[in-house]
Amino acid sequence: MLADEVLVAGQWRQGRGAPIKTIDPATGQVIATVHAASLDDVEEAVTAAAHAAHDPAWRELPAHLRARLLHRIADFVERDADRLSALQTADTGKCRTETRALVLSAAGTFRYTAAALETAEDAITPSRGPYVTMSVHEPIGVVGAITPWNSPIASDAQKLAPALAAGNAVVLKPAEWTPLVALALGRLVHQALTEAALPTALLSVLPGRGSVIGDAIVRHPAVGKITFTGGTNTGRTLAHAAADKLIPVSLELGGKSPTIVFDDADLEQALAGVMYGVFSSSGQSCIAGSRLFVARSRYEEFVGELVARTEKLRVGPGTDPDTQVAPLVHHKHRDSVAAYVDLAREEGATVRCGGAAPEGDSYRDGAYYLPTVLDGLPNSARVCQEEIFGPVLVALPFDDEDDLVAQANDSVYGLACGLWTRDHAKAWRVARRIDAGTVWINTYKQFSISTPFGGLKDSGIGTEKGRDLIRGYQRQKSLYWGTGTAPLPWAAN
Ligand code: NAP
Repeated sequence: MLADEVLVAGQWRQGRGAPIKTIDPATGQVIATVHAASLDDVEEAVTAAAHAAHDPAWRELPAHLRARLLHRIADFVERDADRLSALQTADTGKCRTETRALVLSAAGTFRYTAAALETAEDAITPSRGPYVTMSVHEPIGVVGAITPWNSPIASDAQKLAPALAAGNAVVLKPAEWTPLVALALGRLVHQALTEAALPTALLSVLPGRGSVIGDAIVRHPAVGKITFTGGTNTGRTLAHAAADKLIPVSLELGGKSPTIVFDDADLEQALAGVMYGVFSSSGQSCIAGSRLFVARSRYEEFVGELVARTEKLRVGPGTDPDTQVAPLVHHKHRDSVAAYVDLAREEGATVRCGGAAPEGDSYRDGAYYLPTVLDGLPNSARVCQEEIFGPVLVALPFDDEDDLVAQANDSVYGLACGLWTRDHAKAWRVARRIDAGTVWINTYKQFSISTPFGGLKDSGIGTEKGRDLIRGYQRQKSLYWGTGTAPLPWAAN
């Protein structure tokens, strides 16, 4: 398959950059060659996006008609759900059940955003003089959106839907390892824009290396907002670039989320939740519950059973409906996960299960890694502090609530947390003491577009989702309408 077209300024054509081979991580086979965008493509896309954003056909389109466009995109995504899910499984290795859910969640994001757009109101603020005061929201212009490889269509939609709803144009850069789904989504958005006779340059999709193409988008003078999901180091670089330009930036970054089992927890629920929280998506999830804290009195009982069940998880290709743990996104990433487990061994960890690639012919060419449980390390160990982004769980005991909160918060990250207890007062207390943007109580990794999501500390700046999701892509402006009939007194005759 040769997918040599990228979307530049409303036109499908071969990118002027180097070819990128994208592989199926289950087999190691090349599934497509995409010609990356070049710096000239970035220049052309951003310039055309700035014109499109100011085109009266778009700029003056009433909110309910922009909402109609978003619904049309959602219709297309739902119509093509099977195709998009199969494409994402081939590109990322993820299980079909998961990629299908991600595709449908992307459609849901467009619909929810459409509803938020149609019901968003500007305000008349209380007047404090002979004037009427209003606070209104306007588009920023061109938004640069940069997304990672782990959940392509969902993270693309979370940026694209509110940015378009707000009245902007978008230049989207997907990750080099997984460009196919963003390009497929780009085709659907392009089709909806064409059908509605709107400027097609409102969206460009420019795959290419982050440090070249992503960097050029971020630094382009006509880009007025950066929205980024990815690693903390990259996020920090982007924040510096945004600070130089004095433009807003929102960052959804990494995590090392604690998941906590108290001595009074329902152990069946907790076991299922902890395993799902860290091993689904093969651990390649920003909110993976990768640090497990268990009350010391139940530690051996819980971790022993967890290890027994983890050893039975079914590892296989994402196309097999029985698979629970699919391959990692890329062989290089698998090697980085394996290197972390080797480091844990050097740090003195006990590998309770996993700790290697699975054996057998069917796994030989894929980027597989066994779900792994480590323990015997203090929370200060590197594997307890750094994001591994793979199917690796580190278990630690805790003595009491203060010890637990101190250990759980001893992390540069603050993305998510899970608590398992039957004591609601304790859950409330601990949930409020943990540094995390999201806390799940007796559940984990549940997501709703209607609930804001964002990280604290090194996990990010700003939130996505929720009723105000469009506001982050707008500028606020105040209007004063004079109502007096006499001239202002200071300069009056
Ligand atoms: P990454 O290396 O930071 O890359 C993310 C995106 O940024 C990719 O498109 C990448 O391009 C691009 N990029 C890299 N360097 C850049 C630069 N100097 N300027 C502009 N763009 C640049 O992260 P990743 O490894 O793809 O993704 C995994 C990370 O994402 C994890 O840390 C995970 O926790 C985080 N994540 C966070 C959330 C959240 O909502 N908080 C959700 C999902 C993932 P190329 O890769 O093509 O070079």
